[in-house]
Amino acid sequence: MQNQRKQIVAGNWKMHKTFEEGLELAGQIVSGFEGDKGVEVVLAPPFIHQKAVGELLAGVEGMSLAGQNCHQEAFGAYTGEVSAEMLRSVGARYVILGHSERRQYFGEDDELLRAKVDRALEAGLDIIFCCGESLEVREGGDFLSFVTGQVEAALFHLEESSMARVVLAYEPIWAIGTGRTASPEQAQEMHAHLRKKLGERYGVAFAERQTILYGGSCKPTNAKELFSQPDVDGGLIGGASLVAEDFLSICRSF
Ligand code: PEP
Repeated sequence: MQNQRKQIVAGNWKMHKTFEEGLELAGQIVSGFEGDKGVEVVLAPPFIHQKAVGELLAGVEGMSLAGQNCHQEAFGAYTGEVSAEMLRSVGARYVILGHSERRQYFGEDDELLRAKVDRALEAGLDIIFCCGESLEVREGGDFLSFVTGQVEAALFHLEESSMARVVLAYEPIWAIGTGRTASPEQAQEMHAHLRKKLGERYGVAFAERQTILYGGSCKPTNAKELFSQPDVDGGLIGGASLVAEDFLSICRSF
């Protein structure tokens, strides 16, 4: 172990897998999971899989369930939506918020994300909060302050005890689902920067305890190098989380 921070590997299944396929995948991951390695493994299946996958994970120490999104209100006339309370009621521990696909395709902005963050924490969910820049912003050179801005806008109103329940996930948009991964140095640069900003807001000791994940075309062949960076505490995995062996191999990459 490189430090005292919690290491996490989370699989974001997005809108993949029928119910049966999802149960099969979750079952394979549970069977192959080596629980004694101190890494928390999180599965984020689609909403309708949540309860059944949650039941598979219940009692498996070191594995947790996450929603991929939630609404900013607890209950109400919001056809088609799912609330943080509902996720919590089927055993979810986390919810992913701020994913670039939600920002891009569903128009989720900082203000909405801030409301979702508050709602999720009130409902008792911890948060995996995604941030990351587009290729245009990266090439423009201002990517560190752009990503800091996303984090500040949606999270920095939180008290320290609430912020302690947020796991940051740096996901450069140009690396998501593209096969183009950030280099370990690029990931480290951003993670160290985010930790510094956490330190300025909440204190250095606090920042040192916070888990920061990398996401973006992370796979068995590059996970080890990425996770060996001093400020990279694990990964948020999309495509490679859909194949049990690949995902388990990433979980073993620390
Ligand atoms: C993601 O969408 O969170 C992600 C990291 O996807 P991929 O691993 O497929 O790039």
